[in-house]
Amino acid sequence: MEKSKPSKSPGNSGALLNPRTTHREFFGFPGSVAVMTITTIVLYVWYFSCSEATGCQLPVTKTQWSAIAAHAADYRSYVSLEALAYYTLWWSWLAMLYFVIPGRTVQGVALRNGQRLDYPINGLSSFLVTLCTAAMVHSKFGIAPFLWIADHFFQLATASYIFSTSQALFVYLRSFRHLSNGAQPVMLALAGNSGNPVYDFFIGRELNPRIGTLDLKYFNELRPGIMGWVVLNVSFAIKQYHTLGYVSNSMWLAIVPQICYCIDTLLFESKVLTTMDITTDGFGWMLSFGDLTWVPVMYSLQARYLAFHPVHHSTVSTVLIAVMALASFLVFRLSNSEKNAFRINPNDPSLSHLRFIKTESGSKLLISGWWGLARHINYTGDWMYGLAQCLATGFDTPMTYFFSAYFLVLLLHRNYRDECKCREKYKKDWDRYCELVPYMFIPYVI
Ligand code: NDP
Repeated sequence: MEKSKPSKSPGNSGALLNPRTTHREFFGFPGSVAVMTITTIVLYVWYFSCSEATGCQLPVTKTQWSAIAAHAADYRSYVSLEALAYYTLWWSWLAMLYFVIPGRTVQGVALRNGQRLDYPINGLSSFLVTLCTAAMVHSKFGIAPFLWIADHFFQLATASYIFSTSQALFVYLRSFRHLSNGAQPVMLALAGNSGNPVYDFFIGRELNPRIGTLDLKYFNELRPGIMGWVVLNVSFAIKQYHTLGYVSNSMWLAIVPQICYCIDTLLFESKVLTTMDITTDGFGWMLSFGDLTWVPVMYSLQARYLAFHPVHHSTVSTVLIAVMALASFLVFRLSNSEKNAFRINPNDPSLSHLRFIKTESGSKLLISGWWGLARHINYTGDWMYGLAQCLATGFDTPMTYFFSAYFLVLLLHRNYRDECKCREKYKKDWDRYCELVPYMFIPYVI
């Protein structure tokens, strides 16, 4: 499936194809060590401070931190071969579906050697097959397998951590394979060839590591983690049902929007091919851990919390949270779809009501519709959607608002990177655009 259009440029020879990375992101080696350490600590602190056994309180006292340290020292309670085996089975199951489920094939953007890789669009069908398989498992074994997942969440989280870190090590070591043979080198990410092993391992050295036609970065981006998040959410809802005899309205408010978000992501699977993650970033610890561990483990916190601490909303607050979720999802989805449609075909008759400016780069920038309201109205919708899911958990603890705080930082950083990119690309046209659309996130506010 891999299509190679060999370039006649000198770019195919090692050093020219893969120049040494001079600018290191995340402050290079110390930053990458800090990110790996802090995210790991956050992952475990959020479990040790927010679980059925401990309740859910932000650890602020010395006693609370001592309790966390005592839990953390007892590593036998969170490493299990059984969980590791089931996690590996889960990853392998989805990898097998990647190969066997039919679907159209699309080409990614042209790489810097002129090559364009093929990607199968079968994520949603893999998800549906997995759902049907889960229904069959349920009809044979009842809810027991789902209760096992909820009860062994922590062991599964550690299994995914071991798996994602091993995978990152595997792709890092493998990225040297052609270079050491003296044959054609593999394509490295421009940011991942610093020569510092820790930094390159973290940021990702190889751009598109593949096992046969299995593109590891593309596969990891949307499948084991995103679908695993759905499985965890469903398991926590089943756990609550098993304990209480019903599913609380707060649980529905938390998991339905999250499952819709996952389905939306899989429905628009091909869009991921033009994101920075796929076109620019290497596949290293940051993406491997982010996709396989961070997303399912941290993003399912609301459902996990509600499984042992059910919150009961009044009808008014249920309606308010549901309306907030629906409205913000519409802002997120409609704004993204409007821009995508405009980028695919600016002359599409259904977009003829939209105004735009022409730029010297040849691209047009929308100045009406969603993109006339604010320059990143899609981020606002996305963030509010996440906030609605956190509000479902009530106000007994700030810990379940982690997602909102983290996502705010992520989107602000992303906004900064995108503004820099657009300023560089559009130069004075970007200033003109900013004058016409002066607000960044919320019309007439900011
Ligand atoms: P955007 O979809 O916001 O795309 C930004 C690009 O759009 C710009 O670089 C520019 O590219 C183009 N653009 C900007 N303004 C205009 C305009 N007025 N008219 C036409 N084109 C314009 O970026 P992201 O990929 O960061 O986000 C996509 C979605 O994914 C967002 O809704 C975001 O919230 C979500 N997301 C979710 C994450 C999660 O963890 N849940 C993580 C990251 C993102 P050009 O002009 O070069 O085409």
